[in-house]
Amino acid sequence: MKLAILGPPGSGKGTQSTKLAHRLGIKHISTGDILRTAVKDKTPLGKKAHEFINSGQLVPDELMIGIVKERIAEKDCKNGFILDGFPRTIPQAQMLDKNIALDQVIFFDVSEEECSRRLSSRQICTQCGQIYNPTTRPPLRAGKCDKCKGPLATREDDKPETVKKRLKVYREQTEPVVEFYKQSERLSVMGKSGTPDEIFEYLVNLVESHERGRAAGRA
Ligand code: AMP
Repeated sequence: MKLAILGPPGSGKGTQSTKLAHRLGIKHISTGDILRTAVKDKTPLGKKAHEFINSGQLVPDELMIGIVKERIAEKDCKNGFILDGFPRTIPQAQMLDKNIALDQVIFFDVSEEECSRRLSSRQICTQCGQIYNPTTRPPLRAGKCDKCKGPLATREDDKPETVKKRLKVYREQTEPVVEFYKQSERLSVMGKSGTPDEIFEYLVNLVESHERGRAAGRA
């Protein structure tokens, strides 16, 4: 199964798509995680991406398209994958259309106010990338990751001014991608609110019912 998750920063797509990939036994590919690792390791990609990320802008399409094309061609993507945070621009979506057939695109429809609220209190493990939130997913010990015991920190780009910029960039460059997929039968909208567990069950249903519909169409 080949899926992509779209949504504004803070919509929960990272947390939910990680869990979904685990449940479906397919690879979770987060372009944000790939870039953050490259920045941490000071690779050539990291050096190019650093400024864009910290200022809330998108990393240029030429770079992103190359990274994702290579990543999805790797062996571990053979059984399928979930793209989390890609595509974010029309050229990125066009590249995917040319190279692979996505089975489903899921749009996390969460208001900007709610996203800003969540991002203002979000913390991330600096070692493994696990996301925490004081109300919905607090760590067992303050400041420490439950999984790897790494230190938790606020992401540089979760600072209020940068969040504003990221939401603006989302509106201008990524919302048109939602429209792009609306014109095909592949878009499903995740508009449910609730606890993270309730949202996850709804998401699984959305994927399973879409898959049943596709299977019936093939029969
Ligand atoms: P995320 O973790 O998905 O919120 O991504 C963090 C940052 O990485 C974004 O604000 C962008 O600067 C960059 N980024 C991640 N994915 C992409 C993408 N598909 N295209 C361009 N920039 C991206």
